[in-house]
Amino acid sequence: MPVDYHCHTARCGHAQGTVEEYLRRARALGLEEVGFADHLPQYFLPPGRRDPGLAMAEEELADYVAEVLAAAAAGPGPAVRLGCEADYVPGREADLAAFLRAHPFDYVLGSVHYLDGWGFDNPAHRNGYATRDRGELIVTYFRLVQRAATSGLFDVLAHPDLIKKFGPRLPPGLTSLYEETVRAIKKADVCVEVNTAGLRHPVQEIYPTEEFLRLCRAHRVPVCLGSDAHRPADVGAGLEQAVALLREVGYREIALFRGRRRILREL
Ligand code: ZN
Ligand code: FE
Ligand code: FE
Ligand code: ZN
Repeated sequence: MPVDYHCHTARCGHAQGTVEEYLRRARALGLEEVGFADHLPQYFLPPGRRDPGLAMAEEELADYVAEVLAAAAAGPGPAVRLGCEADYVPGREADLAAFLRAHPFDYVLGSVHYLDGWGFDNPAHRNGYATRDRGELIVTYFRLVQRAATSGLFDVLAHPDLIKKFGPRLPPGLTSLYEETVRAIKKADVCVEVNTAGLRHPVQEIYPTEEFLRLCRAHRVPVCLGSDAHRPADVGAGLEQAVALLREVGYREIALFRGRRRILREL
């Protein structure tokens, strides 16, 4: 078993389990490295309007960092990396940069979870799809992913086609949109996450879809692996399938991170 770079903890308000519980599971699976990537505080909202069910509170960030670093120092078992999952909100780049500078992250996952303030992947706001045109949403979403890549804030773009979460799978005919997205990612020299949570979501497909991943391969975009576990039982979930898919499209290496520097490791 290789690595899982996308684990959440109870601190984010919608996951279960402590750092230690995740590590126990990772140890049992024989993972080499585990990365915690809990949801960074909602820097883009004023403190009073932040939702404690969506991301850790600002006062918790220092404790989160300290807890993961302590686990990393403690051993034995998998090497532990300190990451975070940060929302990309255009226009708020400077605020996010300040949060990121203040802590010794090994890597930062950048996520598009909001389109004009609508949390499109939040089950509680799923009714928002009813009043919007899916084709337009898909284009808007991928253009925002391109901006996230170009922002220079992130090491990895998490679940790069999350817009398909509630299904159905993305329609054919998106090749040029994918191509433009993958080119932006390559130009920015960021990594794409192969995220297995899609297998557990209504769409029942890994993020990103195979066509997108083949384009990443063609453009030599590095990839990293994550389960997006929100409970200890999901650590490593689906990663064997993700590795099989990566090999099938031609990948022989995955990316690891140390102090925001990328290292390639044989798959
Ligand atoms: Zn989450
Ligand atoms: Fe996410
Ligand atoms: Fe996540
Ligand atoms: Zn995620």
